[in-house]
Amino acid sequence: MAIGVKVLDRPTEQVSYVRAMLSGMALTFKHMIDPHKVTVQYPEEKWPISPRWRGTHRMLTDETGKSKCVACGLCPQICPANCIKLVPGEDEEGNRYPLIYEIDEFRCIFCGYCQEVCPEEAIHVGRHYENSEYSRAGFVYDLERLTAQTHPVCEMWDPDDPKGE
Ligand code: SF4
Ligand code: SF4
Repeated sequence: MAIGVKVLDRPTEQVSYVRAMLSGMALTFKHMIDPHKVTVQYPEEKWPISPRWRGTHRMLTDETGKSKCVACGLCPQICPANCIKLVPGEDEEGNRYPLIYEIDEFRCIFCGYCQEVCPEEAIHVGRHYENSEYSRAGFVYDLERLTAQTHPVCEMWDPDDPKGE
């Protein structure tokens, strides 16, 4: 539904607000009996979110269940909020993998750069926003938690398809 913005001029002289109050109440009552009202009874009902929604991260895994991350270091390098911690490791065959990979979802600004830059399409911002916690520490998602996420991932903006159609 399109959202309209109505700009009201501030009155310059003393005015009575009774008329405005009555018209406001009339509008409220009109909405109470409107069969097309848009109030969403969250959390029982949820408003559908855009395929481009950038929310809680998710680390994708390969067919063996291992994280797809090769610890290249690009995502912590590009992250403007400096909220990705990566400690790289290397196995005996010289393959790099993350020893520690953490994202502080509380500091993250959900710009999506980490997803855009990742050469392995490992880290993704996700179509998910219900990640409330009781402490700040609870917002630091480690690799295990990032790979355990199952929500759909964000479809990034495509310049060839600017309206996402
Ligand atoms: S979405 Fe942006 S701010 Fe958040 S972790 Fe990725 S690069 Fe950093
Ligand atoms: S950009 Fe991708 S592969 Fe590189 S460290 Fe980040 S998640 Fe891992």
